[in-house]
Amino acid sequence: MLKIEKKKDCCGCGACANVCPKNCIELKSDKEGFLYPKIDKEKCVDCGLCEKVCPIANSESRSESVLKSYAAFSPDNELRKKSSSGGMFSLFANIILDKGGVVYGAAFDNKFLVHHVGIESKDELYKLQGSKYLQSRTENTFKEVKENLNKGRYVLYTGTACQIAGLKSFLRKDYEKLYTVDVLCHGVPSPKVWKKYLAEQEKIHGADVTKAFFRNKDTGWKSYSVELEFSNSKKYTKTFGQEMFMKLFLQNICLRPSCHDCKFKSLERESDITIGDAWGIENHSPEMNDNMGVSVVLVHSQKGIELFDAIKENIKLKEVKKDVLLPPSADSRKSVLPHRNRKKFFEMLNNGTDFETLEKLLKPNLYTKCRRFAGKILRKFKKL
Ligand SMILES: Cc1cc2nc3c(=O)[nH]c(=O)nc-3n(C[C@H](O)[C@H](O)[C@H](O)COP(=O)(O)OP(=O)(O)OC[C@H]3O[C@@H](n4cnc5c(N)ncnc54)[C@H](O)[C@@H]3O)c2cc1C
Ligand code: SF4
Ligand code: SF4
Ligand code: SF4
Repeated sequence: MLKIEKKKDCCGCGACANVCPKNCIELKSDKEGFLYPKIDKEKCVDCGLCEKVCPIANSESRSESVLKSYAAFSPDNELRKKSSSGGMFSLFANIILDKGGVVYGAAFDNKFLVHHVGIESKDELYKLQGSKYLQSRTENTFKEVKENLNKGRYVLYTGTACQIAGLKSFLRKDYEKLYTVDVLCHGVPSPKVWKKYLAEQEKIHGADVTKAFFRNKDTGWKSYSVELEFSNSKKYTKTFGQEMFMKLFLQNICLRPSCHDCKFKSLERESDITIGDAWGIENHSPEMNDNMGVSVVLVHSQKGIELFDAIKENIKLKEVKKDVLLPPSADSRKSVLPHRNRKKFFEMLNNGTDFETLEKLLKPNLYTKCRRFAGKILRKFKKL
């Protein structure tokens, strides 16, 4: 039977709950708002399947690294506005939907929490478009995927690298009609933090949230804004560098513990294709940089080549070496360190502290200020 010794040893992918033949694993939120499996020991028959499919307990070597790497974007600017980066996800999704397949990805529910769902028509694509910067619950989607594949349908499953690893581990064999795409991943913030944050915003604005969009490009792709709309027609919009939730996310104070020891961030992936933001495009491919969004596309498998070939004719693309496109120092290639005040943050959050006070925990202390100053001087010397 599955035993999680340390919180960092579970990424919450849900493979164990999906595989259990006795349905005796339920994913429950801990005090920080992250899901972990709880086993009903009375019902468990000790079959060991949950342990067998856990992608962290079995995190040995992965796929064939990177076969091809591109900077790419869709020339359809309307599509790019709805997408976080260059709109690659929607183009891949359309290929599978055109074949009568099912596309899985992360969607908001009516409370703006995030779950994986399957869609079967292009009219529903909007649900999966755009990054939602909190952990998505995979629910029963792994089981659904297996059922659809056994019926002979095409399936595209998208998500973070650990979710793709969880799905592949759950399936335990290759399926010809399964395609997987993962997003480059800084880490996932706690849904509890997001829920409390929205509740505070609703109080401030005196109405319910009716829309949440993390990547509004009206202020440009590189300085995107978070946008909230309320039932009384009020709007809230701030660029990510000024926006409170994004600051908490990007300064690593509310990420899942497994994200600080991520087993899935290397370039060897379980997925067929990895997509992300081509940050730094202006340095190596300025001709691609129109500040509307450019994607990183890393192709890992033969199926990935096939899927990418199917959209190739209709996009702007440039082949770029993988380490130029995504430098080894990128947060999406190595685990990020937790903020020194992470523990305090969750204690205060659970005591009902407001976000303005919580944000003060991000302020650098004297030691950090001195380190940053020393770093600046060192960089200046190196340039001389
Ligand atoms: C939590 C998170 C962290 C990220 N960190 C980085 C990073 O550090 N560097 C980087 O370059 N890119 C990062 N990305 C990826 C980037 O934000 C875009 O999602 C990606 O480039 C796809 O953009 P697109 O234009 O192709 O399409 P979009 O329409 O923007 O992509 C939507 C896709 O994102 C998936 N998705 C959205 N929210 C979630 C979620 N909560 N969990 C799982 N999948 C989700 C959908 O299922 C769909 O496949 C991150 C994404 C997420 C969700
Ligand atoms: S050992 Fe088998 S029955 Fe028990 S929790 Fe795991 S999968 Fe379920
Ligand atoms: S299978 Fe996934 S959810 Fe279950 S213990 Fe392993 S990492 Fe956690
Ligand atoms: S950082 Fe790693 S463990 Fe965390 S969500 Fe992303 S892929 Fe999963």
